[in-house]
Amino acid sequence: MGLAAACELAREGASVALIDQSSVPNSQGASFDHSKVFRFAYPDPFYVELAVDALARWHALEADTGVRLVTQTGALLIGQHRPSFETECYAALRSRGLEAEMLKSNEVAERFPQFNTDSFGYGVYDPSGAILHAETAVRALVGLARQRGAQMTEGERVIGVENAADSRVSIITESGRAISCKHAMIASGPWSRKLLPFLADKLTTTRQEIVYLKPRSERGRFESNAFPIFIELESGFYGFPIHQRGAMKIANHHKGVEVDPNSRDDHVSQQFLDTCRAFFAEFIPALADVHVAETRVCVYNNTPDDDFIVDWHPRADGVLVVTGFSGHGFKFGPTIGRIAADLLISGRTSFNIDRFSLARFNKT
Ligand SMILES: Cc1cc2nc3c(=O)[nH]c(=O)nc-3n(C[C@H](O)[C@H](O)[C@H](O)COP(=O)(O)OP(=O)(O)OC[C@H]3O[C@@H](n4cnc5c(N)ncnc54)[C@H](O)[C@@H]3O)c2cc1C
Repeated sequence: MGLAAACELAREGASVALIDQSSVPNSQGASFDHSKVFRFAYPDPFYVELAVDALARWHALEADTGVRLVTQTGALLIGQHRPSFETECYAALRSRGLEAEMLKSNEVAERFPQFNTDSFGYGVYDPSGAILHAETAVRALVGLARQRGAQMTEGERVIGVENAADSRVSIITESGRAISCKHAMIASGPWSRKLLPFLADKLTTTRQEIVYLKPRSERGRFESNAFPIFIELESGFYGFPIHQRGAMKIANHHKGVEVDPNSRDDHVSQQFLDTCRAFFAEFIPALADVHVAETRVCVYNNTPDDDFIVDWHPRADGVLVVTGFSGHGFKFGPTIGRIAADLLISGRTSFNIDRFSLARFNKT
């Protein structure tokens, strides 16, 4: 989020310094992985519209960087009951005039015979579903920010952001530097509870496990031209077609156990692997004997309502807080970057960001 904002700010001639506690990309950060899901499909038209804006910006970034960041695959939402998340997504997409298909289970079976359609009631197909090549994107944004003149300091932890006597903002780092600036943006991901203690009782950081799996047979049936991104929210499982050295990614969106992002266990549990296999046995039988190629652990940074936080710091003038992306923020990165740049440059944005205000936490 910080990089996306920096690219927008630097393009407009602002003098921008990025400060990260780690090298970028940070392998412990939320944005670090080969891939993230892109989709228009949200039950809430507000996020549908934000996603439509974001996709145009992802494509603009591809043009600006000359790097492919998005691979469109379509997304299949696996539905069990009605009404549900899936039917609400369908209604929200159609209400915005976007393509979406409501498929009976036999229609899913015709199009995607890899699924055991006895295990579900229907599917909602969102053709916008796409793989965002996340790590590639972060590296491309680093290059673009630098090319546009942003300064980058890596390996320097910020320990405080406060107003100085001259009414500027002072950013204090662990090594004792104090950087004076007109405005600051804090986009500290899962570390936000540490840097923003006033949010400590609002944010939770949860441990999420990810596996990359290689099908042992029928690999062609799981390539991106034959197999969609799928999401089955009752179990929480979602996955991608093959896209990373012959492997497909599987993860679970249900919130894991709370962890400190600095002292998490990076080993994926046998229990998680077992539940993945049980999911496949039920929904995608040809994957029941997959081979584990790679495992990862990542940390969600959750707000109580899963809406993001983009608002001014309540105790430090000129400091924008951009956090709480609750496990679904990556796809919106370029739009959030634009919103943050608008606010930092002019104090206003044409996007309606009431949903992202801190004031919502004060309402009962
Ligand atoms: C397992 C997993 C799967 C996900 N899947 C999806 C998906 O499919 N689709 C989707 O849209 N979203 C997804 N998300 C969510 C998405 O990845 C995040 O919402 C997004 O990456 C958050 O970006 P960020 O910039 O807020 O945080 P980060 O990427 O974590 O960046 C924060 C940066 O701040 C730095 N930092 C923190 N504290 C300090 C400090 N004190 N001083 C200096 N630097 C500091 C960190 O080093 C880090 O580089 C997923 C997240 C996870 C964990």
